[in-house]
Amino acid sequence: MEKKNLDWENMGFSYMQTDKRYVANYKDGKWDDGALIDDANIVMNECAGVLQYSQSVFEGLKAYTTEDGHIVTFRPDLNASRMVDSAKRLEMPPFPEDRFVDAVAQVVKANAAYVPPYGSGATLYIRPYMFGINPVIGVKPADEYQFRIFATPVGPYFKGGAKPITICVSDFDRAAPHGTGHIKAGLNYAMSLHAIVTAHANGFDENMYLDSATRTKVEETGGANFIFVTKDNKVVTPHSSTILPSITRRSIMYVAEHYLGLEVEERDVYFDEVKDFAECGLCGTAAVISPVGKVVDHGKEICFPSGMEKMGPVTQKLYDTLTGIQMGHIEAPEGWIKVIE
Ligand SMILES: *Cc1c(COP(=O)(O)O)cnc(C)c1O
Repeated sequence: MEKKNLDWENMGFSYMQTDKRYVANYKDGKWDDGALIDDANIVMNECAGVLQYSQSVFEGLKAYTTEDGHIVTFRPDLNASRMVDSAKRLEMPPFPEDRFVDAVAQVVKANAAYVPPYGSGATLYIRPYMFGINPVIGVKPADEYQFRIFATPVGPYFKGGAKPITICVSDFDRAAPHGTGHIKAGLNYAMSLHAIVTAHANGFDENMYLDSATRTKVEETGGANFIFVTKDNKVVTPHSSTILPSITRRSIMYVAEHYLGLEVEERDVYFDEVKDFAECGLCGTAAVISPVGKVVDHGKEICFPSGMEKMGPVTQKLYDTLTGIQMGHIEAPEGWIKVIE
């Protein structure tokens, strides 16, 4: 298969239309067979449920080329099951998990020419999503839904190495107790836009959200989970029912324990203890781990000993091991890597 002639090294994180996308429709109480199609545009009624009441959920994962030339995806079964959880919380019919994994493979295969070559640092970003499509004016769940997956090549998240970022403690809340913070719904992002634009305007890269009930515990950022490293090399991540369960973070905690032999803890993390940690990172599919050098709480700075020049040593090891597993240099735990072709 001939690769597209794209400038793999210099791509940003933006949408590029590729050849094929997957579409399945839910109508009269069941999903149809689904198919790959060419048309990147969606025509829907002006009163579609998603447009009026934001009934939509999504996922994000990547396909990449391994050192030995295979195209693979990383733990797509976890995206499938998380999307089921998201759909249920928004009263949407779950898309079957086995069909989700199969549809991801179909989209990657059909767009194999867009999967960046090994070593470029670029990847194929895959976006499954689902939304209410029939007219809904009285507030209720839609009766008809569309499930889609498109793929778009994206550049290396960090050009020229991962520089630590500066984040601020947000005055806004991301998630409420018993709300929707633990599911991947577009609505969680719509209401976070003002907070991130405000953070950027104030010179910060990201927001650290505290728990909205007590404002004493660390939750996550707008789109990534936290890991912290203690001065005695323990890897700690916040436990909370309002955090989105990041697949990257869950994988990192496994790698820390089973590959690096580190002690791991998933527990309440009080903001008061952040100043005592040695390293801090943000975990998500886009960057894998983005190192945090500084946290600013209303003018009060917490500077991690790892500094503003490079990742902390434990964060770096976690990053190298997980990306090594993804790229095929390090043997993966059973079931983590799905070979597409
Ligand atoms: C998607 C997402 C993450 C990261 O999850 P991954 O599965 O690692 O990509 C973290 N926080 C929020 C709020 C998210 O939506």
